[in-house]
Amino acid sequence: MSFWFIKSMFTLQTELSQIKQIQKSYLEKLHKLDLKTIKDLLYHFPHRYEDFRKITPISQLKLNQKVTIRGKILEATNQRTFRRRMVLTEVIIDDQTGLIKAIWFNQPFLLKTLRPGREIILSGKVNFSDEGIYLSNPVYEIAKEARLPIHTGRLVPIYPETAGLSSRYIRFLIKKFLPLTKQIEDFLPSSLRKDYQLLDLKTALNQVHFPDNLALAEKARQRLAFDEFFLIQLYLLKQKYQFAQQKSYQIPFNQPLIKSFVEKLPFKLTDSQRVAAWEIFQDLEKTRPMNRLLNGDVGSGKTIVAIMASLATAKAGYQVAIMAPTEVLARQHFQTFTKFLQNEKLKIALLTRADHKFLNKNQIISLSAEKIKKMILNGQIDLVIGTHSLIQEKINFKNLALAIVDEQHRFGVRQRASLLQKSTLTPHLLSMTATPIPRTLALTLYGDLDISLIKELPQGRQKIITQVIPPAEREKAYQLIRKEIKNGRQAFVICPLIEDSPKLEVKSVTQEYEKLSQEVFPEFKIALLHGQLKAKEKEKIMKDFLANKINLLISTSVVEVGVDVPNATVMMIEDADRFGLAQLHQFRGRVGRGPYQSYCLLFTESTAKRTHQRLKALLTAKDGFELAEKDLQIRGPGDFVGTRQWGLPDLAMASFNDLPLIQKARQAARKVIEENLWTPLLSQKLTQFQKQIHLE
Ligand code: ADP
Ligand code: MG
Repeated sequence: MSFWFIKSMFTLQTELSQIKQIQKSYLEKLHKLDLKTIKDLLYHFPHRYEDFRKITPISQLKLNQKVTIRGKILEATNQRTFRRRMVLTEVIIDDQTGLIKAIWFNQPFLLKTLRPGREIILSGKVNFSDEGIYLSNPVYEIAKEARLPIHTGRLVPIYPETAGLSSRYIRFLIKKFLPLTKQIEDFLPSSLRKDYQLLDLKTALNQVHFPDNLALAEKARQRLAFDEFFLIQLYLLKQKYQFAQQKSYQIPFNQPLIKSFVEKLPFKLTDSQRVAAWEIFQDLEKTRPMNRLLNGDVGSGKTIVAIMASLATAKAGYQVAIMAPTEVLARQHFQTFTKFLQNEKLKIALLTRADHKFLNKNQIISLSAEKIKKMILNGQIDLVIGTHSLIQEKINFKNLALAIVDEQHRFGVRQRASLLQKSTLTPHLLSMTATPIPRTLALTLYGDLDISLIKELPQGRQKIITQVIPPAEREKAYQLIRKEIKNGRQAFVICPLIEDSPKLEVKSVTQEYEKLSQEVFPEFKIALLHGQLKAKEKEKIMKDFLANKINLLISTSVVEVGVDVPNATVMMIEDADRFGLAQLHQFRGRVGRGPYQSYCLLFTESTAKRTHQRLKALLTAKDGFELAEKDLQIRGPGDFVGTRQWGLPDLAMASFNDLPLIQKARQAARKVIEENLWTPLLSQKLTQFQKQIHLE
């Protein structure tokens, strides 16, 4: 690596491809890491540091230690090792207290740099052979050039590498360009930096790469991670405040209506359900639109809360749209809504690709989709239930005042916009999800939403017996399924998740189907469900399963959301270790929905202790939220919906366990908005950030 200067015309935006000192082969590799500009490079952070600060006298070296030494080169040679066909570079170093040999493999060119008489610094691990101790493949630096060493004799940054692009090279480049941080003007107002004790950006960038000590490295990491969380929150809170400026329908709380509805329910509402409903009613009374997420475990009874909100809205003379992720679920919601609302004299329609029905005066009739759309526009329908395509197809309403989305985490800005009708009023939004999400993620990714949590399950739910089944006991598990089905019950078998390959997933589920239907359970009616079936086929299978015309349903993870089959008592999951804990918990929630004792059987081929410990958490955790927190600790945030979509950099991903940091970022963002701390630089940075992560 020859010595070269940074041209003064370089800026952070300079493309690496314009820098002729970077060879083409390296450039390609840098691009592979998504490093296109100097700025990208400076934002490519080390994932750890090697501590080579202390120089150890050669006489005091100990075996297996990681050390840094400094001395003069006495001798340097290349030797060919014939047996292994390699070039071995051997260098003898003298530091007055003793001699040591250092060796490198297949880098004969090193002799050009490592010349006898030169003083060098070496960092590496002390090894041992019959000839004594030696350093194998140490990092080196010529002492004269290294008044401020970068590869040795300090905290040395280690970068995520890619083939052919070493940490050493990345370090070298970054060191070259770091002086350009002088051009950076910190976008974070200094008052905020002071309030939250954050390093300024320039210092943070310098210290994250070449820290003076570990405490500063940590402070640098904090500042840089803070920036990511801060910008997300700033974006979301800004959205939130803008959304709150809009006008919505005011729906006065109709106490007698709700009271008599609740009294007629076949069960008593849980406290969480009451609180959630109350929060929603309060939102509906306001002039600004609600934007609320109802988050509750599988089976916690979110639907009834949604029904109460719908009832209040429809009885006030406005329309409601309910959107489910699948046609099966839309149909199920239609049944549930019509059942609970049958005496309320409401006009309820189901509108999906396959199905268009209408309930009026306790009669369900089929109508054409066109006709139903017309009735929606004329206000002849109070409640319409469909899939998410209700928004995509831009159905026109007379006065849509409440939109409910089931099993979706949040309404995107674009989806919100498509709900806007010709009128100037914005509907209230209620999203519902059973996906438990850890607190730090909720704060970050749902920063624009108000959240109602349903933490408890209705009373009297029986505990589902959960077992981790080793391969040797598979037969016993099959016996259990056989017994349950003979008693009239039903079972699910979930096949392994094969990431990034729906094709392979279908193949594996099809094989399982053949094995179970031909060899294991030839006596039962077995069906196969996967994402590549046509909607109509899926619909038919779910309908038959619900009617107990199918004993055993083999499926990919498509059954995950919402289906309610009270007669099913066994949930068996193949290769359970491939799923997140929270997701397994969702599967488990598919059984135990009726009066019968139910079972969740987790199969795994893995013998790793860690896997078993992880799965065992399902036996002890009290709810999905606890499991989600565990998932976050063990598997990181990547498995949670939304984190990928936000394109968060590694640094932020790694900081998702850092609740105080995330709370700080949220507070700071709120301060900016409430105390109007905007600066032109900050606004510009936010705009850039939005573009960079391709927001919605
Ligand atoms: P989820 O939150 O998963 O959508 P559901 O709304 O489908 O759950 O409710 C699951 C089942 O629990 C339904 O059969 C529902 O009627 C019933 N349920 C809801 N609330 C209660 C309650 N407070 N007590 C008893 N059963 C309830
Ligand atoms: Mg549900």
